Amino acid sequence: MVIRLASATALLVALAACSSKPEVPASVTTAPAATTAPSGRKYLLERVDDASVVQLYADGFTQLPLNEKQLVYHLTQAAIAGRDIYWDQRYAHGLAMRGVLEQILTHSAGIDAATLTGITRYTKLVWINSGPYNNLTARKFVLAVTPEAFAAAGAQAAKNGAVFATASGESLDAMLTRMRPLFFDPKVDPMVTQKTPDAGQDVLQASSNNLYSGVSTADLEGFTEKHGLNSRLVKQNGTLVEEVYKVGGRYDAPIRAIIGHLEAAQPFATPTMREALVKLVQWYRTGDDADRKAYDIAWVNDKNSPVDTINGFVEVYLDARGVKGSWEALVYYVNRQKTVDIEKLATNAQWFEDRMPWAPEFRKAGVKGITATAIDVVIETGDSGPITPVGINLPNDQKVREEHGSKSVSLSNVTEAYDKSTVPALRQEFAWAPEEVTRADKWSAFAGELHTNMHEVIGHASGKVSDKVGGNPATVLKEHYSALEEGRADLVGLYFLADPKLAELGIFKAEDQAEIVQAEYESYTKNALLQLRRVRQGTQIEEDHMRNRQMIVRWLMANTTAIDVRQRDGKTFYVMTDAQAFREGVGRLLGEVQRIKAVGDYGAAKALFETHGVHFDPKLRDEVVARVDTLQLPSYSGFVMPKLTAVTGANGAITDVTISYPQDLTTQMLEFSKASAGLK
Ligand SMILES: [Zn+2]
Repeated sequence: MVIRLASATALLVALAACSSKPEVPASVTTAPAATTAPSGRKYLLERVDDASVVQLYADGFTQLPLNEKQLVYHLTQAAIAGRDIYWDQRYAHGLAMRGVLEQILTHSAGIDAATLTGITRYTKLVWINSGPYNNLTARKFVLAVTPEAFAAAGAQAAKNGAVFATASGESLDAMLTRMRPLFFDPKVDPMVTQKTPDAGQDVLQASSNNLYSGVSTADLEGFTEKHGLNSRLVKQNGTLVEEVYKVGGRYDAPIRAIIGHLEAAQPFATPTMREALVKLVQWYRTGDDADRKAYDIAWVNDKNSPVDTINGFVEVYLDARGVKGSWEALVYYVNRQKTVDIEKLATNAQWFEDRMPWAPEFRKAGVKGITATAIDVVIETGDSGPITPVGINLPNDQKVREEHGSKSVSLSNVTEAYDKSTVPALRQEFAWAPEEVTRADKWSAFAGELHTNMHEVIGHASGKVSDKVGGNPATVLKEHYSALEEGRADLVGLYFLADPKLAELGIFKAEDQAEIVQAEYESYTKNALLQLRRVRQGTQIEEDHMRNRQMIVRWLMANTTAIDVRQRDGKTFYVMTDAQAFREGVGRLLGEVQRIKAVGDYGAAKALFETHGVHFDPKLRDEVVARVDTLQLPSYSGFVMPKLTAVTGANGAITDVTISYPQDLTTQMLEFSKASAGLK
């Protein structure tokens, strides 16, 4: 599970305000990350439509001992090696489209300036979103030049030496004509993932991702998947075939390249981490679910290594069924300074579990192995980059979680980069009263980060499901599972934020608690309104984290007296007026959400999201968009990763690894593409 910065406005604005304030409140025990960052360096690199491009820094890397630098280096190579797997999973034509665009951009002399600007802008959005679909709305975006101008640009690039991957005997013109609907027609393959399609449509048929080919939900009845997470399901001559992602299977070439780098990394790893890397290689070789499980267990048992990686088919958000894993890779080291507070939550996980506001039979008897760490990431690719989560809790296998625990990480340098790259602008526009702004100035950054940590450490890690759902509620809750689980984790955070235990643990001072809770509840409430700016088309929310946040706030509006909807000067405000009623409602809703997960009550999940989480009033959205557009706030960010360079000695051995910051999206994306081994 990941937590994305979907509550961006709350957190972004909050963080931005923090950076504009020289003094951090005394009770903020999390030290500001800026202490080691040179001042005046560039975080926000550029804006592309409603995306911002942000440089990520990993300041602690230079202080790592050489063996850890070498380890990180090989793991980052493995991360780059697998990048194209995700591109292909996301859209069958994604890599071909990227190839055309990159050839044009790298052979651009003499191309009409306006055309080149249009192609460049589009290519950057394609790079950031790993294909032609917006990561927030799941909708296709198209190239805003004419097909004729695009063809002329292609011809000019060819004259300059560009080599296009035309089919055999096919001219460049013929290829661009064949690909025209991909670049220009929003109605061709309109949605990458469509979890709630129009009546009569099938979720798999309505989704244009490449996790399935020619398959509808009805085909799956009576079919047993052996490789749910790591296969593409294809209907061939009326029969379902699992194309397994493994050596000798689908994605053979990149998987072999990944294995090579993972094996090169092994000698530099701690024994427990080496064990996990060995098991990971084994899973890539066989593709068997038993090996996946062995790897999950080895990975979660590696609790204290200073460096770690996530590499494989992990998150299931791309799949409308919530079963197939998208490939992703992250490489990171522990940020010791920031880990202290998170550990306090983790070591007290059982205390929180025993007080969860749900039926006792759904409480875990012995919460074990919850490991929580603040980390700095060195690279993120595939499903985790350039657009990155701010928190992660894995593994997703419910049985492994119950028996072996889970690891949670909070991505400190990502949060820092969000903070430093954001222009404070929005808080006043959506605040009903000036006190709200003052409270947010003082506490939102701190409360937002704390809520993120609670979401991961005591949220996802909590609770027990009934044996009736077979250990995997996703199979019965289907398209509502992910959003429900995200809602559950958010609710745990909101609920315990108001518990005196946090002050007892020294996370903040008791006298500040009321104000912190008020600030976070206000931010969370306002976000339900603000996030509508991210869904500029349609009247439905698709992204799971956005659904859960919409659902929670709208449920509270319908079932408690905590939130007022007010109007002033034709503008709408969501005003949190009663923190006690808010918390009481959160507890009630959390009890119900846990019950739905535990017993796999699909009908109740569907009703909850259909009523409160999916649909919204387009007039209200238009109002929010208009207000936000005058403030020019980005809807999401794509990150440029640090770059590692190996210094080799006379015998070819790595003697040092240096880190640098490209500060340019195009340079990095072209470099990554060049490193691709191809898919076959
Ligand atoms: Zn989450």
